[in-house]
Amino acid sequence: MTSNSRVVVIGAGLAGVRLARRLAELGVPAVLVGDEEHTPYNRVLLAEVLAGRYAPEVIALPSPERLTRGRAVRVDRAERRVHFADGSAIAYDTLVLATGSNPVLPPLRGLFSPDRHELPEGIHAFRTMDDCLGLSGAVRPGVRAVVIGGGLLGVSAARALAERGAQVVLAQQSERLMERQLDPPASALVLRHLKDRGVEVHTECRVRGVRCVGGAVRSVEMADGYTLGADLVVLACGVHPRVGLAQDAGLAVHRGVIVDDELRTSDPNIRAIGDCAQHDGRVYGLAAPALEQAEVLAGLLAGTAAAGTAAGYTGTRALTRLTLASGTPLDLAAFGEPTPRPGDDVIQLADATRGTYRKVVVRDDRLVGGVLVGELGTVGALARAWEGAEPLPTDGAPLLHLLTNDGGS
Ligand SMILES: Cc1cc2nc3c(=O)[nH]c(=O)nc-3n(C[C@H](O)[C@H](O)[C@H](O)COP(=O)(O)OP(=O)(O)OC[C@H]3O[C@@H](n4cnc5c(N)ncnc54)[C@H](O)[C@@H]3O)c2cc1C
Repeated sequence: MTSNSRVVVIGAGLAGVRLARRLAELGVPAVLVGDEEHTPYNRVLLAEVLAGRYAPEVIALPSPERLTRGRAVRVDRAERRVHFADGSAIAYDTLVLATGSNPVLPPLRGLFSPDRHELPEGIHAFRTMDDCLGLSGAVRPGVRAVVIGGGLLGVSAARALAERGAQVVLAQQSERLMERQLDPPASALVLRHLKDRGVEVHTECRVRGVRCVGGAVRSVEMADGYTLGADLVVLACGVHPRVGLAQDAGLAVHRGVIVDDELRTSDPNIRAIGDCAQHDGRVYGLAAPALEQAEVLAGLLAGTAAAGTAAGYTGTRALTRLTLASGTPLDLAAFGEPTPRPGDDVIQLADATRGTYRKVVVRDDRLVGGVLVGELGTVGALARAWEGAEPLPTDGAPLLHLLTNDGGS
């Protein structure tokens, strides 16, 4: 690695790649360093690769020119140098941490042992292209797969594995699927979608351990003592921000690396963006905020912050979208608070036959949350109303128009 670069970005995921590309467009040289073997890719689309719908190269991100492979292991803040696992180092004026998240590995009996620190054969996280290719290589029709976790990741993985012909059981600890984003009726539609595709879903079901023979998984053990035979296990139990580098360097870290409105950490020469960053108490763990933070930081570093971003980063109000694609895809969008408080207006449309459900929550004259499943015609208009945080029009139109008028989306 050369040592005369001034902006150094660690992490070639969604946030790091977007930042490096924008900086290149703005004429600011930056070095991007990533530790994954693969060409940078769009992580959000990994389930499509697992389902066999896209080849890995289809989800590649347009790569910036100055991309280097390496794993940053230490930041020397006094010397302003970042050190890499291969012994090399690189000097920076500004260092940007875009190190993303790690999967949560649940404390399951049998997952690790004193003599084995790798996951047993057949057990995979679902975060990286390597995870995805590992799973993809192991899945074949009839394979017994158990997905642990029924959030966005677990639901996507279960759907993709079922599409590849696996016999899939999804074990969700809480009472419904995707509880962070969806309300009970919307979760019920996702459950029905999975069941229609042959996925067996168990809610309120806690997995206690895994049993391995000869280093390979054989079964999954539930808290009630029930045992499920398994050839393949996917751990989809959430993520936590990857903050080790920042922590070791003595930066302020809570859940994520704490940043201000200029995405500056407690060291003014180090910024952080994406899943690893915590802004105004929030760690988003979603693509849209990671990309918005990258855009804002590019403007700040280039000194060309566009109107509207001049004040820095003020938080992201973006919808979470997920498509469970297949012959009949199921589209989902969720934002804000889908559960009303007393006094809120709730507008809801459900069509059990078509499997659609739409709901928005309005407080005073503002849209505060919503869920759309199966019918996303109004998503553009709702996204604009939500993201702009504007008062809703008071022209006498019934609030139902929020769900029936697509507003040109
Ligand atoms: C299967 C899947 C589906 C998802 N679906 C959705 C979705 O539908 N909607 C949504 O909004 N979000 C979704 N997400 C979340 C979304 O992918 C993340 O929010 C987004 O990728 C965050 O971008 P990032 O750049 O901060 O982190 P990442 O994309 O994780 O990139 C971080 C990169 O930094 C590298 N790195 C870390 N430490 C070092 C180091 N020390 N040295 C060098 N490199 C390092 C990592 O290897 C990684 O390549 C999904 C995630 C997964 C895994």
